[in-house]
Amino acid sequence: MSQIQVVIDPGHGGTDNGASYGYVDEDDTNLEIAYYLGYELGEAGVPYIMTREKDEYVSLEQRSTLANIKMPKLFVSIHCDAFHKQTASGMSVHVYQHPSWNALRAADCFQKQLTVHFPSHRWRGIRRSNFHVLRETHMPAVLIECEFISNPETRRFLKKPENKRRMAQCFKRSIVNYLR
Ligand SMILES: [Zn+2]
Repeated sequence: MSQIQVVIDPGHGGTDNGASYGYVDEDDTNLEIAYYLGYELGEAGVPYIMTREKDEYVSLEQRSTLANIKMPKLFVSIHCDAFHKQTASGMSVHVYQHPSWNALRAADCFQKQLTVHFPSHRWRGIRRSNFHVLRETHMPAVLIECEFISNPETRRFLKKPENKRRMAQCFKRSIVNYLR
């Protein structure tokens, strides 16, 4: 069996919907983008696993523990952003507060692809965050905030399957660039 290269982590799930606005739940959106990404990685011949494959609750500890058992080259957590101000929009990539050199290199690969593929979207940059899945995983890890689910305009963008597929293709290119 080939070594797992990537762990895809669709944020939230089950009883934890994540951000929920205008009948769009973050957990479903994250999972759909993750499905597309899994398909893309399969096509590219990159072995991967997902921390969840359906709408179920998986704790943060279960996610980081699974990743630490599999020890992939990269951990990619997929989320959507939300803010009480409806006008907030944009995409960002998060690394841990004290990131490894490779985590920063991975974040840079995502930044390059996202800014090229989604030039009309606000780019919020590479951010340092104390998120569990970034702190407790023992391999380079990034968390992507795909757009704001709280903004009606970007929520409409997130609802379209075609955009989720485009985002997954963009992530696949970022990952392939990072791995080589
Ligand atoms: Zn989230």
